[in-house]
Amino acid sequence: MKILEGKTAVITGASRGIGRAIALKFASEGANVAFSDLRYDELAESLEKEISGMGVKGKGYASDASSLQASEEFVKEVVNEFGSVDILVNNAGITRDNLLMRMSEDDWDLIMKVNLKSAFNLTKAVQSFMLKQRSGSIINMSSVVGVSGNAGQSNYSASKAGLIGFTKSIAQELGSRSIRCNAIAPGFIITEMTEKLSEEVRKGWTDKIPLKRGGTPEDVANVCVFLGSELSSYVTGQVISVCGGMNT
Ligand code: NAD
Repeated sequence: MKILEGKTAVITGASRGIGRAIALKFASEGANVAFSDLRYDELAESLEKEISGMGVKGKGYASDASSLQASEEFVKEVVNEFGSVDILVNNAGITRDNLLMRMSEDDWDLIMKVNLKSAFNLTKAVQSFMLKQRSGSIINMSSVVGVSGNAGQSNYSASKAGLIGFTKSIAQELGSRSIRCNAIAPGFIITEMTEKLSEEVRKGWTDKIPLKRGGTPEDVANVCVFLGSELSSYVTGQVISVCGGMNT
């Protein structure tokens, strides 16, 4: 039997990058996967096909995770279509980097709305279903900079630190019903988000990493399988770094 067989996972922001790798890894471990992104485009369509090709159910939805109403509608549709929600991965996230001196109020607000409020929206939307089931695993995608801070990313770091406080609080609120909530703090992972950085900045990051390489989306997806499965049944309220030792 596969590790996630019979489970239904909901993953936000999964058409590309880390979310996509999680969706594929979950499917390969036997989970049915409902994923969202801002648009249902050819990337979403191809992911749906890849997931279905693995013999499990896969469906993409256009849903803005930063909207509570859209998130509630999305989760309702998923439960109607899939019958349950066992794992939620709050993965959708964006950057609007700048030094505080040059950071606009809009860029601060947008980052809080997408990176932090989305987790509130989706967690609120799944919690009644998970409470009825008396089981569930919620995984919030934080970041190493949510712990360490990073010059030029005060908005992003604050949103990712906020996710850690949210994770620990939800773990305490829902633990008695066997619903677990953990965060992952990825370091420097090679995706379109980090490909925007200059070669020099990227080299600067990798030089500081004990494993001397950027991580892959699959490195993060593997830890999601652990946290989504019964392998981590006694793990809640934790922040697991996937950063090649960057934080040591
Ligand atoms: P990415 O930009 O490659 O992918 C993010 C996806 O989220 C995109 O498909 C985007 O369309 C989607 N998205 C954005 N806003 C959304 C919204 N409001 N609703 C639904 N979907 C939305 O990014 P990634 O590198 O794969 O990052 C995934 C997560 O991991 C993010 O939360 C990011 O902050 C976090 N993270 C990434 C790194 C890294 O090095 N790449 C490091 C630490 C944490």
